[in-house]
Amino acid sequence: AVPIFILVLFFFNDLTFQESFYRGMVFLTVASPCALVAAATPATLSAISNGAKNGVLFKGGATMEALSTMNILYSDKTGTLTLGEFKVVDYKADEELLKEVVYMEQQSSHPIAESIVSKFKELNLDRVDKTQPVEEVAGSGLKKGDIRVGKPSAFEHYEDVNNYRSKATEGNTTILIGKNNEIVGFISLADQVRKESAQAVAGFRKEGIDVTLLTGDNEMVAKKVAEEVGIEHYVAACLPEDKIKFVNDSQAKNKVVGMIGDGINDAPALANADIGIAMGSGSSVAMESADVVIVKNDLSKLFYSFKLSHKLNRIIVANVVFSISVIAILVILNIFGLLTLPSAVLFHEGSTILVILNGLRLLRQGKEEYL
Ligand code: ADP
Ligand code: MG
Repeated sequence: AVPIFILVLFFFNDLTFQESFYRGMVFLTVASPCALVAAATPATLSAISNGAKNGVLFKGGATMEALSTMNILYSDKTGTLTLGEFKVVDYKADEELLKEVVYMEQQSSHPIAESIVSKFKELNLDRVDKTQPVEEVAGSGLKKGDIRVGKPSAFEHYEDVNNYRSKATEGNTTILIGKNNEIVGFISLADQVRKESAQAVAGFRKEGIDVTLLTGDNEMVAKKVAEEVGIEHYVAACLPEDKIKFVNDSQAKNKVVGMIGDGINDAPALANADIGIAMGSGSSVAMESADVVIVKNDLSKLFYSFKLSHKLNRIIVANVVFSISVIAILVILNIFGLLTLPSAVLFHEGSTILVILNGLRLLRQGKEEYL
């Protein structure tokens, strides 16, 4: 455009060639979009760095920007809204069987498994048959030969002479132990809600985001936790594939979907969601599938990042509008010959520096109210 600009001024505006060329150079300077190019990147990097200082790692700038457009947030329960530190509150099973169960749970990384192993660590497992493989059924439990442990719904065809199934309705997380199609024991465990969960949920709901609890646990526990943290909608007895289905269904309705979880059972849904968020205490598969990792497990920092992402978008829009306006004004002034080359450079570089400084404001740490 610059040679055309020079020729137009020279042939049609009766300017000398020197004057036309000079204005051409001013045009070249002011119309180059330096400030526009710098509108987003420094701001995004600053926001990512601010998030990291607060224990929230973003794997990319696009995710940082997308977070502000999120409409719906699905959340896992165990290890996410709750600490995932279970305590065994009740159990019944004979000792030989219990040893089998403890051996099986040693092979699992689920929070339930860890608490069972630590509760029964005194048991001597020498006589357990260790040649048979232990198979983990994600979101359901474990299997070894004809022994099975896991959630009650996995035992539908099992006989229940001692009525252990009813333990699941007492509001605790209950796992059953089955052998040869018979329910032969149970373990009930209690978990605790994280203290930041309710605060974060309230924040998101105030911003108009639909928070929904998706859990593999039973109805009673799901309801209890949902009430404790202030979540309106919950779905109990979810399989890993149900979690993906909820994510995909919402995406089909043009919603921007966030999913937060910690387990191997959450990983597929995390990978499918627009914004997959993993807890730092979670399994490594979950962290690999996610776009965001909450290192210190502090959910209120996720809300902080959400506000940060809103501020990021506001700053980017302001920067773009500002830099385009400066270019437009300088180009117009130059057409009328009102700009010298030194002042053109000054305004042009000045606007670039202002845009960068505006972006760096996102480095400032603060409470989310000020964001
Ligand atoms: P959440 O969605 O609440 O994180 P999961 O999907 O990880 O729960 O697990 C769902 C249910 O499956 C648990 O409540 C438990 O009953 C059962 N379960 C999963 N893993 C195990 C395991 N290693 N041992 C026993 N039960 C398990
Ligand atoms: Mg979980």
